[in-house]
Amino acid sequence: MPDDPPGPVPETATDAPLDPGAITGWHAHVYYDPAATRDRAALLRERIVARFPEAVPGRWHDAPVGPHPTAMYQLTFTPALFPRIVPFLALNRQGLTVLVHPETGWPRADHLMHALWLGAVLPLKAEVLPEQAGT
Ligand code: ZN
Repeated sequence: MPDDPPGPVPETATDAPLDPGAITGWHAHVYYDPAATRDRAALLRERIVARFPEAVPGRWHDAPVGPHPTAMYQLTFTPALFPRIVPFLALNRQGLTVLVHPETGWPRADHLMHALWLGAVLPLKAEVLPEQAGT
């Protein structure tokens, strides 16, 4: 069907490249240790909310949820905000690890293949990620 999103990854290096226009939004997942770095995560969150009111902060998760290996909260933002918010996170993450991933309708590839990591690369629980959204 023509409305289907593109496949999650090109089969070979010579396949047509994926179109970044398929990205409908972005998530930044800010990881922290509830016992040691929650205060830093809170300060970063305050600064993001103050500077980028169009970004949508999610709930605090003090225990791992979904594919995420540690406590985290999520920030949702539009492709238009990416060139301002990601550099801000890069410079102001205060040693915290941040996973930045696109939303293309293919959650497994978006998290595992297309993600950007600020700081350490953490192991995600791939088995809970559906290949295609809504499946
Ligand atoms: Zn996400």
